[in-house]
Order: sequence, then C-alpha cells, then structure tokens
Amino acid sequence: MSKDIEYFQHTLNEPVTCFGRGLHTGLSVVMRILPAAPNTGWTFIRRDLPQGENEIRAIWFNVRDTQLSTTLGNRFGATVSTVEHILSALKAHGIDNARIVLNAPEVPILEGSARTFSDLILSSGRRVQSARRRVIVVRKTIEVVEGDKFVRLTPAPEATADVEIDFPSVAIGRQKLTGIKLDEKTFVTRIRDARTFTMKSEVDKIMAEGLAQGASLANAILVDDEKVINPEGLHYPDEFVRHKVLDLYGDLALAGAHIIGHFSGRKIGHTLNARLVAKLVSNTNNFTFTDREYAETYWTTINYRDSA
Ligand SMILES: [Zn+2]
Repeated sequence: MSKDIEYFQHTLNEPVTCFGRGLHTGLSVVMRILPAAPNTGWTFIRRDLPQGENEIRAIWFNVRDTQLSTTLGNRFGATVSTVEHILSALKAHGIDNARIVLNAPEVPILEGSARTFSDLILSSGRRVQSARRRVIVVRKTIEVVEGDKFVRLTPAPEATADVEIDFPSVAIGRQKLTGIKLDEKTFVTRIRDARTFTMKSEVDKIMAEGLAQGASLANAILVDDEKVINPEGLHYPDEFVRHKVLDLYGDLALAGAHIIGHFSGRKIGHTLNARLVAKLVSNTNNFTFTDREYAETYWTTINYRDSA
C-alpha cells in the first residue's frame, strides 16, 4: 500500500458480525461492525435501548469506569462495557470510522484477546475515504504517577512503547517489552492473540459480587500464584505483558486521534491509561492537532527540547 493512502481515513469494506457472551453480565451478544462516514470515529449503538439515546461515541470524555474493564457512557445514561479489545483491533488495523451495533450492555469477550475482532476486520478489508487523517503530536512530557505505578507520554517521531508489569504471582512476575512500535504489523505478529488474565482469588471475589458471570478458561488466563490453571498453558511466555500492550492500543485511541509520541509505563492498566489520555488532551499546550501528512515534517522542524 502506498504511503499517501495512510494520510486518508479508512472504514470497513463491508459489515461483519460476531456472537459471544459478555464477560461480566454473561449475556449472549450479537455484535455487528459496520462502515461509517468520514470524521465520525467509532460509535457504539445499543439496539436494546430507545433510538436517539442509544449511541455512545468511543472518546475519552465518555469513559465512565475503568475498574475491571473500560465502560463508556453517553449523556442519557446508556453505557457499553468491555470495549477495550474491539477498539484495540480497530485502531491497530487503521479503521478510523465504524459503527458497532450490539443488543446488550457489553461487548462479547470471545477468546479474551483481539484475535476474532482482528480476523473479522481483515476479512472485511478496509477502504479509503475522502477525509484526511488528523493526529495528536505530543509536545510535552506528561505523566500520571500512583505509588510504584506510572504512565508517561514523551515527544517522539512515532507511536512507540515500553511497558513493564510486576505481579507478586510467581506465574506472572516481572515482564517487560521495550521499543514496541504500536503499528498494525506488531499487533498482528505479536500482540493480538494475547489473552486477558486474572487471579483466581480475584475471580472468586468478583463472582461473589455477581460480576464475571461469563468468565471461563475459554476467555481468560486464570492464575493461581505459581501456576496457570488453563490446561493449554500460555500462548507466549510473556503473554501477560503482551496483553497490556493490546489494551494500550485501545486505551490510547480514546484520545480521538492517533497519538504520535512515546509511551512508557510500569504496572499499567485502563485506569492510569485513561487518566493519561485525559491529561494529554485537556490542555492544548501538551499537543498539536494536525494533519497526519504534515506531522512528519512537523516533527523534524520543531525543536522539542524547548517545549519539553
Ligand atoms: Zn484487556
């Protein structure tokens, strides 16, 4: 694909459909992903709610909860949960505009990774649209620190990341990925199959609260301190940190446009990522919103040391 096509927005070629259960509600969900008009971004549409109040845009100011998964909501109180893996796949495959229609309050968890979403998007293919892509160029280092956890964005010519996790559980421990390019190739070859994970003790607790009703060994890695309970084991020895990178694609995309900058983080999660995105875009001194094509020359002509 010629590079100048990358300067324009894209949508799906044709609608795709998937079926599955919601991780937390356990409800059966039918979800269709449809092409959408330029400059509309990603919109969830709850078919089970009244028209006019049932559209929820995937954008940072609509984030309502990030505790167990990312929940988005609109001003009418309509919400949609567990949006992170479909958003990650849309972002990674360069789908700027899509309508995501579902009949439940939660996106199906499927196999707990982004594999099915990625396959569906690839099977549809994408088509170029008339509107140009806009990007967010990070101009200042911004960070959110909480105890021994942090997330940070620094000016850099490309979207790259260093991610470290450190769990007391022996089966996970400390894992690190550095110099990851947050692009489609990395996603397909290293990231999209990494599953979400949870501690057995946590699952017991949240199930007692009536959540994780759809959880099973088919849609998450279950860890009991020293061992992985799933009989098939892991897809990769460092599947846990890879899944954190998978989540990162979607979490950063909630800024509303592709972020050009370097992300680094330790013990990251949806909550800190969402706070970082909100901090970035709520002060116009932190970034420049510009045309994607222009952003490349922009980077080479600006002396970032002055603004850092
Ligand atoms: Zn996840």
